[in-house]
Amino acid sequence: MRPDSPVFLYFDAMKQWSKSLIPVLIIGLISFKSTKPENEFPGNDNRLFATAWFALSAEKAACYLQTYQLAGLQLENNIKSLENSKKMPAIVTDLDETALDNSAWSIKVLLEGKDYPAYWSEWEMAGKAPAFPGAIDFFLKAKSLNVPVFYISNRSAKNLNSTIRNLKALGFPNADSSHILLKTKTSNKIERRIQVLKNHEIIMLLGDNLADFDGVWEEAETEKRLAAVTDNSKNWGRKFIIFPNPMYGGWKESVFKYKRNLIKAQSDSVWKLHLGNYLKQYSF
Ligand SMILES: [Mg+2]
Repeated sequence: MRPDSPVFLYFDAMKQWSKSLIPVLIIGLISFKSTKPENEFPGNDNRLFATAWFALSAEKAACYLQTYQLAGLQLENNIKSLENSKKMPAIVTDLDETALDNSAWSIKVLLEGKDYPAYWSEWEMAGKAPAFPGAIDFFLKAKSLNVPVFYISNRSAKNLNSTIRNLKALGFPNADSSHILLKTKTSNKIERRIQVLKNHEIIMLLGDNLADFDGVWEEAETEKRLAAVTDNSKNWGRKFIIFPNPMYGGWKESVFKYKRNLIKAQSDSVWKLHLGNYLKQYSF
């Protein structure tokens, strides 16, 4: 092709133009990267693995099945041990992450880089939380043994009807306003347990958070929480039935001394301090 031909001149101009375009493209790509939303995927969010395990793992399903089935066997022993009591036996259970699985809500707030209370009220009102494996069978067994269930939960009292609808649709017994004691002013559950104790002997409590079992764990420091667990050794698996919740709860709040709204740099340094102190116990 001749260097002065129109076709040659066209391709030569294109070559020059594309060379000058390369720096523009590079600058464009850099600026595109820096304007990406920070929380597009929560790779750095420290809730990621806890939430993924809870939502996706079959191990979690096995944990709940195992625990509910053992609780069902234990329930018969607890009823027998109460034969001389004048009060009616009762079970007290928490709802969230004990009987109702809120994984879907957890994933939504995680993927959007948000946190509680984002979407929580909408989730409660939707009334679509599924039951954990083994939960319905356990609570129906309690019903067949004439043991009523009281649901002491920190779900919002203003959404009581939605929670009743959710529990009824799943087949939970005692899904009515006299057996569901939700949060009104305080998340502290002591008063609501006292209310049940007026006419009932609580023979079993179920929860994912230590404060679901006794007031000794309400806003307790980390060392005190562990000491009280040891003090209650005989209750675990007998009167107290606990489920795993690595996503949230008193275990996490106690690390931050129950302070809310810490910025990430602050919470990172608190985690480093606590994990470092733990490691100091072991020399290798
Ligand atoms: Mg709970």
